This record gives sequence, structure tokens and C-alpha cells, in this order.
Amino acid sequence: KPIVAVVGRPNVGKSTLVNRIAVSRDAIVHESRGVTRDRSYHEADWNGRDFVLIDTGGIESVKSKDVFAPRIREQALAACEEADVIVFVVDGSVGVTDEDEEVARVVRRSNKPVILVVNKVDNPSSEDEAWPFYSLGVGEPHAISANHGYGTGDLLDEVVANFPPEDEESEEDDGYLGVAIIGRPNVGKSSLANRLAKRNRSIVSDVAGTTRDAVDTLIEWKGNRIRLVDTAGMRKKSQVHEDVEYYSLVRGLQAMDRAEVCILVVDASVGVTEQDQKLLGMAVDRGCAVVMALNKWDLIDTQEKRDRVMESLDMRMGYAPWVPYVNISALTGRAVDKILAATLAAAEAHQREVKTSDINKLLAQLREGGHTVTDKNRRLKIHYGTQTGTKPPSFTFWCNAPDLIDDNYERFLENRMRSTFDFGGTPIRLKFKRKD
Ligand code: GDP
Repeated sequence: KPIVAVVGRPNVGKSTLVNRIAVSRDAIVHESRGVTRDRSYHEADWNGRDFVLIDTGGIESVKSKDVFAPRIREQALAACEEADVIVFVVDGSVGVTDEDEEVARVVRRSNKPVILVVNKVDNPSSEDEAWPFYSLGVGEPHAISANHGYGTGDLLDEVVANFPPEDEESEEDDGYLGVAIIGRPNVGKSSLANRLAKRNRSIVSDVAGTTRDAVDTLIEWKGNRIRLVDTAGMRKKSQVHEDVEYYSLVRGLQAMDRAEVCILVVDASVGVTEQDQKLLGMAVDRGCAVVMALNKWDLIDTQEKRDRVMESLDMRMGYAPWVPYVNISALTGRAVDKILAATLAAAEAHQREVKTSDINKLLAQLREGGHTVTDKNRRLKIHYGTQTGTKPPSFTFWCNAPDLIDDNYERFLENRMRSTFDFGGTPIRLKFKRKD
């Protein structure tokens, strides 16, 4: 998916604009160390094109005047590095400031498409307020009002027009299993990728992927061909600036889109965090199989520490007990083969096909066991079910009253399906249709 970064000095209305555009369901917020500089990623779409929107607005909370310039530069640099299109926001009610010029310098140097947005032009008749911003040297200013929504449609047309062509995102089918190593910064993704690449060096490495800048690593393990998706930033860590790490979250999202299995790397010395839970949710939304690597296990040297990890695991991952986990140490090499074994098992479950007759045998058993739901005058009857897809396995059940099926019953059926057909490591999807 293309990435759109929204940059600009504080208080020009970046977050307001982002909130207006985004479908916020997938927002992830990043808290940088030190100063509060929360930022968030949002899923968005316009005219059928999906994209990821980065709001760099959290920088607003830094108040001291002299920390501004370097931070703004840093923020804009990092954003420009990952973005496909840059939306540069300025404030029409204030006019051109030194800080705007600072951002403009960075943005110009990026050689990426830049769309200059003059916000707070709340009255269309005062569009003239936008013209002075020509002086920033980043092209024609677009007057908008993020508050009122005026001009945002035209802005989005312009953004989408600057996306790379869609066919670049086509799926590769070369007999390799696509595996994305995902996780928060510093959990050990690079260390794991490097170790996997080093140990299994039998095959060409560093083959360019289809997405620009993405470099995949191909490995072979026990006769299985595995493509570690977009390991570019992992194998050769960028030294440019710390914020690149932050953008690695977006890269993670893009990697998921090209992978069948995600290895979710978690720092065991920290425990499973809310952010890890969100990453799992995103992988599941995309239909990826997931295995979890509890990394840095070499640091878990007391019973107390073990208990703490397990507690966080129960709390954060309790709702997805099907995700297998392996305690590893990318540093010492402990159990990294096991994570590959788990990955392959998950991939196998991900594409498993179950016979219709076996599904209906299970349904018959459930009927005999009296497992159903009822209301005042109806009783749920599932007539039959069949698998309608793989990657992930998807099933449709025809029943007399789909509206009777609540979360509890659905979870019950999912668990039965899982235990009967062994779907460890993969999400499964159940759909219910009415048939009298
Ligand atoms: P990434 O940001 O997720 O790619 O994380 P890195 O691979 O760069 O690792 C971040 C830090 O954690 C580095 O200092 C690594 O040396 C360290 N690290 C990675 N794996 C382990 C591990 O298994 N045990 C310990 N003790 N440290 C680790």
C-alpha cells in the first residue's frame, strides 16, 4: 500500500486533517522515548485506493522554541524517507513562517511528490490567502479547511494521482513461502532475520522484491523455501536517524500484505504489550497466519521473570490461543529452528482444505450433543457447512436463523473446528447464511 506522510510545523492542523481522511479503525500510536511525540498510523482509502496515512502531529506537545527546528527537520526527514507522497501542511491564517521554510527545505530535497496544503482557509472566498505559499518552492498551494472539510476531496484526488501504479503490488508466486518478521522497534527483528539468513545460506539472498525498496531474503530450511519479506532495513540497519525505526511499523504493515505467515517478535524482557496485541490484530485482519517469537529469552533467568512473561501472554493473547509461541534468543541462537518449524506448520494449516463430509460429521456430532442456541420461539439448526477458501481457511454454514448466532456460539464453533481440524497458527473465518 502507498504511504502518505502528513508533515508540517506544529499547530497547522495535521491531526485534524488526518482524522478527517482516515478510517480510524487501525490507528496505531507510537510513543517515542523521551519527549512526548506520539504519532499514529491510519488506514485510509479514496476512490478505491487503499493507503496508509502517517500523522506526525504528536510533536505539537514540545513547547520550547529552540528544540523545534531540529525536531521538525528530523521528523520531516524520517517521513520523507518512507513516504510515497508527502502532504505538507501550512497555516493560511498565519502566513509563511521560518519553520515552514525549514520543513520545505527537507521536503524539496526528498524528490518525492509533495502536495502543499494551506489549511484553515475556512472561507472559500479567501482562497487568495494561499498564494504567498508559492514562495516555499514546492508547487501550487491547495487551499483547504480541515475543520470544515472544504477542499479535502480535491486534495485526495491529487494525492491518489501521485501514487505509484497499482500493478507493482502484484503477488509473487515463485514457490517460496512469504514470511514477514514483524514487531515493535528493538524487539530483535533484525537480529532474528540476520541469524536466519546466516544459518541457512544455501540460497541466493537479497533478491529485490516487487515493491520499490523492498529487499527479500530467500532461505532454504530442510527443503522448504522461505522468502523473508522486506528484510532490507533489518539486514542493513539505517544509521540515518532514530525515527526511521518508527517508520518500520509501516514497513511491517506492507510486509504483512506480501506474506502468508507473520513471525510476531516480542521482547520477552518487556512482556507482551498492547502494541504487540494490535500488530497481531492487523496480521489477522489481513488473513495472515501468525506465530509468536518470545525473543531475548536469555534474559529470562528467574521463575519470577518467567511468570511475568506468561502473565502478559495470558492477558494480551488470551483471546487468540491458537497463536503458537516459541521462546527464542536471536542473540544466542536458541530455538530459532523451532520458530521455523512453527512457521511451516502454521503455513500448512493456513492452506489446509477440509472435506465437506468431515465438516458435516462434526455438525452432526454437535447436534447430537445438543449444542445449539435458542430464543423464545426458535432453535438454531445448522443444515450444513463447507469450506469456501484457504489462506486463511474460510467456511460458510447454512442455517435456519443466522441472527441467533452470538459471539459465544461462534467462538464455540470456531474452537470445535480448530480442535477437530488442527488449525494451529492460522486465523479461520466463519460465515453464516440463511437457508430455511
Ligand atoms: P529490531 O529493531 O526489532 O530489528 O531489533 P534489533 O535486532 O536491532 O535488536 C535490538 C536490540 O536488542 C539490540 O541491541 C540487540 O542486540 C538486542 N537483542 C536482539 N535479540 C536479543 C536476544 O535474543 N537477547 C538479548 N539479550 N538481546 C537481544
